[in-house]
Amino acid sequence: MSFLDELGRELSRAGQDVMQGTRQTVDRVKLTAQIAEQERKIERAYAELGRRLYEAGGELSHEDYMLLSEPIDLAYDLIEQLREESTSSDADYCPMCGARLSGMAAFCSNCGESIERCKTCGRPISKSAIFCNFCGSRTNET
Ligand SMILES: [Zn+2]
Ligand SMILES: [Zn+2]
Repeated sequence: MSFLDELGRELSRAGQDVMQGTRQTVDRVKLTAQIAEQERKIERAYAELGRRLYEAGGELSHEDYMLLSEPIDLAYDLIEQLREESTSSDADYCPMCGARLSGMAAFCSNCGESIERCKTCGRPISKSAIFCNFCGSRTNET
């Protein structure tokens, strides 16, 4: 294989790494936004429930109560699911080989690479990274 072919392969591989890092960040941002949206829904539903309760003089029929509390239950369920999703995607992976890391492992059990972690959020970062993929803070001190 020619030098240029090899260089091209290296570059496209680096490009894929960047893409993957970006997608991970976007997903996390999206999940956080979805959770915030559900929390707003809950607040609105609570306000509505309170207003109806006030208008009804402190007593709601069971039907009304069910009707008004259902969106709150649904939103709480959804938040639960979103939180689970965001913590499961929070698993740490080796920046070199992509293997899943156990806990705060200092070395990858798959490729033996020493794992460097972001000083801000503690997630594993690739040694060449300038910014942390997870929290966006600068990874080098200079
Ligand atoms: Zn590894
Ligand atoms: Zn970080």
